[in-house]
Amino acid sequence: MKTPDVITTVANLRAVVAGWRRDAATVGLVPTMGALHEGHLSLIAEAANRSERVVVSIFVNPRQFAPTEDLQRYPRNPEQDRARIAAQGLTDVIFVPERDEIYPDGFATEITVGGPAVGLESDFRPHFFAGVATVVARLLIAVAPDVAVFGEKDFQQLLVVRHMVRDLGLPVEIVAAPIMREADGLAMSSRNAYLSARERQVAGKLNCVLNDVAQRVREGSSVVGAERIGRDALLSAGFDSIDYVAIRDAHTLQPLERASSDMRILAAATISGTRLIDNMPV
Ligand code: AMP
Repeated sequence: MKTPDVITTVANLRAVVAGWRRDAATVGLVPTMGALHEGHLSLIAEAANRSERVVVSIFVNPRQFAPTEDLQRYPRNPEQDRARIAAQGLTDVIFVPERDEIYPDGFATEITVGGPAVGLESDFRPHFFAGVATVVARLLIAVAPDVAVFGEKDFQQLLVVRHMVRDLGLPVEIVAAPIMREADGLAMSSRNAYLSARERQVAGKLNCVLNDVAQRVREGSSVVGAERIGRDALLSAGFDSIDYVAIRDAHTLQPLERASSDMRILAAATISGTRLIDNMPV
């Protein structure tokens, strides 16, 4: 059972990691934006399985929010986060930097990833992956872990991070962790806290619709036809707007002309201003 230390500066974090390295310990990193739930804890467990020391970062990254998005009201729960991490007992360091520590005055560098970052989320949140890639690179360089764990919940983000790490030759293994879901199948998310009881019921239909659409494709429906049925089903279920229901190549996220052996269905839909995403293999 570990008791985590809370560190707020990159310099202190580096000093601690350097000490671990002198003892030849391996290091795992789990980047998060806090408001931790079971999904985050499962990533920490995965990091602890694969490395002797574990760093969890908690930083609500302003660069991945557009001015119109929910940066200000994004759920923040530092005390509860610390209690959850401590109760799990697998984390050595919680890294909680202030904004200036990550983006010092005059910060003017941005990492733009192509490939899997093009399309889907980028069509609706054009700022998003540059924000994610920049902060993840910043964290990977600060911690220099052996492994970093990311959730399949944000499947496109996982592929984008992998691609960036590959392109830049960063010496870290990116590990994918499966999606943790509520009893009705809703993917756990910090943003689920925004949902009223009625909206929460509707939200639970998202994964059911994706399951159904995936099943149709497995049974021979056309990709385009199945995507259309998925959109209609989400609207009937009570979602207000659908950004996409897309069946894509699971590795490149490129559109498919016809069904193939390795596909992923991904969706983003909004209910009363709360935007939810989900995905699963077909
Ligand atoms: P966030 O705090 O939402 O930025 O997420 C931090 C990490 O946790 C990301 O790698 C997410 O993909 C992952 N994550 C979020 N929700 C879940 C979930 N329900 N299951 C598994 N991983 C998740």
